[in-house]
Amino acid sequence: MSNERAIPTIQYGAFSQRVHEQAAATRSVIKAQLELTYRCNLHCRHCYTDPYNSKDFFPRELALEEIHRLLNDMQQLGIVWLNLTGGDIFMHPHFFEIYEAAIQKGFLLQLYTNGTLFTKATIERLQQMPPFTIDISCHSVTEAPFDWFTQVPGSFRSFVRGMEMLRDSSLPFTLKTKAMNWNRDEMPAIKQFVESFGQEFGLTTSLSPRLNGDLSSLNYRIAPEDIQALQGDQPATEVQEERCNSLSHLLTPNTDKLYRCGCGTDTIHINAWGELGTCTLQYERRVSLRTHQLAEAIEMLFREIRGMQYQGESPCRTCEIHTFCDKKPSDARWESGSAEAPIPYDCDIAHVRAQSALRHTVIHPLR
Ligand code: SF4
Ligand code: SF4
Repeated sequence: MSNERAIPTIQYGAFSQRVHEQAAATRSVIKAQLELTYRCNLHCRHCYTDPYNSKDFFPRELALEEIHRLLNDMQQLGIVWLNLTGGDIFMHPHFFEIYEAAIQKGFLLQLYTNGTLFTKATIERLQQMPPFTIDISCHSVTEAPFDWFTQVPGSFRSFVRGMEMLRDSSLPFTLKTKAMNWNRDEMPAIKQFVESFGQEFGLTTSLSPRLNGDLSSLNYRIAPEDIQALQGDQPATEVQEERCNSLSHLLTPNTDKLYRCGCGTDTIHINAWGELGTCTLQYERRVSLRTHQLAEAIEMLFREIRGMQYQGESPCRTCEIHTFCDKKPSDARWESGSAEAPIPYDCDIAHVRAQSALRHTVIHPLR
């Protein structure tokens, strides 16, 4: 008779819910995003990391041994989901060493890539130890606009070749689209392309200033009325559904907190220079992991971010549609001069979303 016992299994949804509930109860960090490098073979016009995709900045990036140390620290902390991103991950000279170390540590790995750098060898290596998922940006399915936007001739052909290889590989992947003013009319074609790969089409719209404060990335924002038109054709995203199901919260916020989102709860972000943040675009406060241990840095940073409050009389402080708003304090600092200030574009988008969810007139927060 065998002494072997079957390992109990659980559906992924139930597992995820249980881990999130435990994290909320114990105030634990369970998700991390690690930018391996700012290097990228493309120069997308909306890209927030692109100013640091230059050899002048590469020496500041985390060394391989620092990345290994961070992987150990994250494992000890109990992090479950690890997102490796860039730049483009495949531009890191030691990507597979990092990737395989992360897999062996048991993280559920989510990879972000632009999809243009897949080769037979990379696909085969990923197949040996598959990630949890691979997310690929798909902002155009037409050669001329695609190459115009990435500023790299031939990138569209590399993208299509990469997607075909990925489709034939059986590796798990998702395509994600950002609707902007230049690709707005391409949405039906992108949807068709995405669905031809067996994927569900969904889109996001928010753009942020570049990490060095350059606002040129915002030139590609889609107009609020175009978002409304596009979303008329779309199934509501998870976030929107959640918002629509909680309309009773359409009230003056019951807190003066600068961060009313999930910042400072269960997620960390580490940039390519080894600076810890609470999310990708939170740059109000960072702690260097070159001078602080991860656990200590999280404690300091989370306490500080959770304690940040509006001090002035910003409309955001009393905004009744804040649950529909994408405003990020660091974006506001670059765009409006202060982390507390409203971002007029975000107000317009939040207003459109609120009216569409409520199906009646809502007063614009800046009027
Ligand atoms: S592929 Fe990603 S990292 Fe590279 S330039 Fe485009 S947006 Fe930036
Ligand atoms: S909608 Fe405007 S005023 Fe309201 S929270 Fe967002 S940026 Fe602030």
